[in-house]
Amino acid sequence: MSQVNLFTKRINKALSNNQLQTSFRSAMSYLMEGRLKRFPDYDKLQLSRTKSNSIRANSVSNLGDLLVTLENNLTKNGVKVHWAETATQANEIIHSVLKKANAKTVVKGKSMVSEEIELNEYLIDNGIDILETDLGEFLIQLDDDKPSHIVMPAIHKNKFEIARSFADNFPDLEYTEDVDKLTQQARLVLRDKFSHADAGISGVNFAVAETGTLCLVENEGNGRMSTTVPNLHIAVTGIEKVVEKLENIPPLFDILPKSATGQECTTYFNMISGPRKDNEKDGPTEVHLVLLDNGRSRVSRDTSLNDILNCIRCGSCINHCPVYVKLGGHAYGTVYPGPVGIVFESLTQGLDKAGALTSACTMCGACAQVCPVKIPLPTLINRLRNESIEGVDSDSVLGKGSLKKPIESSIWKGWRFIYSNPLVYLLFVKTMTRMRLLVPTNIGKWSKYRNTPKPSKRSIEEIARSEGFINE
Ligand code: SF4
Repeated sequence: MSQVNLFTKRINKALSNNQLQTSFRSAMSYLMEGRLKRFPDYDKLQLSRTKSNSIRANSVSNLGDLLVTLENNLTKNGVKVHWAETATQANEIIHSVLKKANAKTVVKGKSMVSEEIELNEYLIDNGIDILETDLGEFLIQLDDDKPSHIVMPAIHKNKFEIARSFADNFPDLEYTEDVDKLTQQARLVLRDKFSHADAGISGVNFAVAETGTLCLVENEGNGRMSTTVPNLHIAVTGIEKVVEKLENIPPLFDILPKSATGQECTTYFNMISGPRKDNEKDGPTEVHLVLLDNGRSRVSRDTSLNDILNCIRCGSCINHCPVYVKLGGHAYGTVYPGPVGIVFESLTQGLDKAGALTSACTMCGACAQVCPVKIPLPTLINRLRNESIEGVDSDSVLGKGSLKKPIESSIWKGWRFIYSNPLVYLLFVKTMTRMRLLVPTNIGKWSKYRNTPKPSKRSIEEIARSEGFINE
């Protein structure tokens, strides 16, 4: 089935689920209100966004040099740095590090890059016992489900579904639909796993080139446990997460949680600068960083598209997107949903695989207004829409022109011919108004959710003449 038909199928499924839409509406409204409360001063917010944008833009435009500095400083700190061009390479590297350390059990903190490379599936296939420790990701893993939001992966689940899932997976635990008790039960299960795991895997929010420091933003403490309790820590991140200086971190850390969840700041902010030193009592004895490209360096070379690499994964564009609110994350069928997902997935996977997503945008512009790093998402989506049909000559976009339909192209060519020839246009309009009753009311999928417009009895030119606006 084509990507367009698959996407349509998922859309229809989402639209027929009223419960899902109600849940997403209330969750997104909550997040939007939370964000609004954190930014009472409009001018201050704009200054903050401008500053964050310049930090991230500096990172992306100096990506190559900063990554070399990052690698040098991490290596000096005792961190082993690995480069992965593709998802497969990243998985192979992580697996080989685990194998070398004879690590069989892994606890994992939240990481969207690990979702992108399908790390869990790969490691499980290779006999590794890997456990998600972020509560949302843990719930997803229990149900063999997929995240539906980049910050709140289990936002599509309600407490009753979670209670049933706990009852199925942990029959020894008392059945409860109380959210606090469910959280305590999850904590109980996870604590035990942390203390026995051979290795911990985490993502990275920011990697500071100047000092060779990996920063992790989180709320549950599971990130800290995953990165400090086991003897081996492997971090995996996209190459774009690098920032130049340590002083770049406070502005980004200030705007990230406020934009994401409406929090003043997160409960934990971890800075990892290397393995345990001789005089230290805890921490891993071995730390690795896997830097994933997966299409990012190709995108970074296109100065009109590389804004997407500025993304700090706050999810605010998703929370404010009217299309996402109606569909939820699963309808996109990709790891990253919403406006950021449309651009990122189309660029990294190629328009021939994910270009259908570009139609899931109303061009309302809300995403661009709330993005803390000022990514012009609608402009990028519009360009990708255009490239999916026209195929502009650039190397940065894969699958250009893959959604072009010959019949549609012919119709638009005809339209252009009519509208650029006044006499033909007048003749066409006259014919359409006279034959208006012959226009079909059903024109396929287009009229499924819309009323088909009928030409008026008189053309605009005839009306203008009769009203005296045209005299000659
Ligand atoms: S595109 Fe902007 S708003 Fe969306 S997740 Fe990234 S930083 Fe946040």
